[in-house]
Amino acid sequence: MGKKFLRTKIIATIGPTSWNKETIEKMLLAGTNVFRLNFSHFNYEKFEEIINIIRETSTALKIPCAILADLQGPKLRIGEIKEGTILKNDSYILITNKEIIGDENGFTLRYNNFNELHKGDQVLIDDGKIILRIEEILNEKEIKAKVIRGGLLLSQKGFNIPQANLSIPSVTEKDKEDIRFIINHDFDWLALSFIRSANDIIQLREYLESLNSDISIIAKIEKPEALKQLNQIISLSDGVMIARGDLGVEVPIYQLPIWQKRIITRARQLAKPVIVATQLLRSMIDDIIPSRAEVTDIANAVLDGTDALLLTDETSLGNNPILVIETMAKIIGEVENNPEFNKLLTKNFKMASPLKINCNKIQYVTASIAADVVLTYPISAIIGLTYTGSSIIQISSYRSPVPIFAFTSQNKVIRKLSLIWGVRSFFYDNQNSTDETIEDTLNFLKENEYLEPGDWVIHTASMPINAKKHINTLKISIVE
Ligand code: PGA
Ligand code: MN
Repeated sequence: MGKKFLRTKIIATIGPTSWNKETIEKMLLAGTNVFRLNFSHFNYEKFEEIINIIRETSTALKIPCAILADLQGPKLRIGEIKEGTILKNDSYILITNKEIIGDENGFTLRYNNFNELHKGDQVLIDDGKIILRIEEILNEKEIKAKVIRGGLLLSQKGFNIPQANLSIPSVTEKDKEDIRFIINHDFDWLALSFIRSANDIIQLREYLESLNSDISIIAKIEKPEALKQLNQIISLSDGVMIARGDLGVEVPIYQLPIWQKRIITRARQLAKPVIVATQLLRSMIDDIIPSRAEVTDIANAVLDGTDALLLTDETSLGNNPILVIETMAKIIGEVENNPEFNKLLTKNFKMASPLKINCNKIQYVTASIAADVVLTYPISAIIGLTYTGSSIIQISSYRSPVPIFAFTSQNKVIRKLSLIWGVRSFFYDNQNSTDETIEDTLNFLKENEYLEPGDWVIHTASMPINAKKHINTLKISIVE
C-alpha cells in the first residue's frame, strides 16, 4: 500500500480572519479541499480578490481545491444594530421594515409582508440565542414582539420563524444577481440555503439552464419542510448539506444527531455527496484546543461516512483558522487510520450502499461491481478515467476501503472532485488507447508513491475510448 491521504474532505468558509494569501496558503497545505464563499456577506470586489488568491495559491502549490458558492436564499436577517444593545426579558420591541439603526426599542427586518406572520409565532434570532414572541401585527410594515429570552443583539444576525410559511421566493433577486457573478467566475459548486421543497431545486436548475450553466447544486437542509421531502430533494440535487446551524433552530436541537445520520445514509443510497456543517470546532474560534465533545462529533461524522465537514465561523471569523484545519485533519486521520474504520466501512457499505433503483445504467452497474470486487479480493485502489466525474461520484458513494484515483482531461472536474469522499484526482489527456491509459496511470501512481509493486488495482474505463461515454469496463492489474 502506498502513501495515504484523508478520505473525508475539509471545507473552510473564508472570511475576515482568513482572506489573506498567507492564511489561505497554510490552510491548503494543512488539508483544506474546498473553500466556501458565503454570499450572505461581503461584496463582489472582495469575492474577486479571494477567488484570485485561492486559484493562484492552488496552482502554485499544485494542490487542487474547489470553490463553493453559498447563496443566501430566502433567509431573513435583521438590520444594523447599535453596538452594545441588550434586549431584556419581558420587554417589548418594534420590528419595522424601515431602515433604522436598531436598539432595545426596535430594529429593521427587510421584509415586505409582515401580515404573513401571526400573533404567537416564535422568532429566533442569532441561531436561537435570542427568542421573541410576536404579540401584534400592527400593519404590513410593523410588528410588536415580546422578548422571551433576551441577550446581546448584533447586526445582520439571522431571523428564523420556524412556524411561518413565507411567500418569499426560494431564489431571490439577490440570489439571481449572485448566480450571474458565480457563473462568470467559474465556481465549482453552488449551495442554496433554506430549501423548502424539491421544486426549489427545479427552479434553481431552470434559472441556471437559462444562463447555460451546468454548475452542480448542493441543497442545504435547514428547514422542517425540507425534511419531509428529503428523497426528492436529494434526488434532484447534486449534493446535500446538513446545515446544522439553522436546522438546529428550525427543528428541536435534540433531533439533530438522528437527522444527520438519516440524511447521510439517504445521500449515500442515492449516490450524492453529503456535507456536515457548522459548530464542528466552535470552541476554537477563541481557544487553541477543541472540546472533547467537538472531537467526538467530528469523529462520529467521519464514522457516519460523510463526504465532507464544513467549518463556518471557525475559519471565517475565528482567531485560529490554520490551527482549526490542522486539528480537523488530525481528528479525521486518527479515525481513518484505525483498522476498525475499514471494518465499519464494510459494515456500513452493506447497510447503505447505493440503491438498486440507482443501478439502472451500465455505469452504475460497473461502479457497483468494482465496489463488490474490492470487498472480496485484496485490491489496493480503484482507478477511474472520467470526463464529467459522475462515475467517480458513483464509485465513491460505496465508501470502499481503498483510495479512488480519478484521471481526467478536465481541470474543472479535478476541482469539483475535491469535495468527494476518498478521491484524489489528476490531470491526464492522452486519449490514444485504453491500454496506454492503464499503463500511464499505473506508472504515474507508482512514481508518486500512491501504489507499490505487487499492488492489485481495478481500472474503470469506457470502451471504445473515443466515444467518451460512461464507464462500462473493469480491468484488474498488478503493479509491476
Ligand atoms: P450558513 O449555513 O452558515 O450559511 O447559515 C450553514 C448552517 O446553517 O449550518
Ligand atoms: Mn444556514
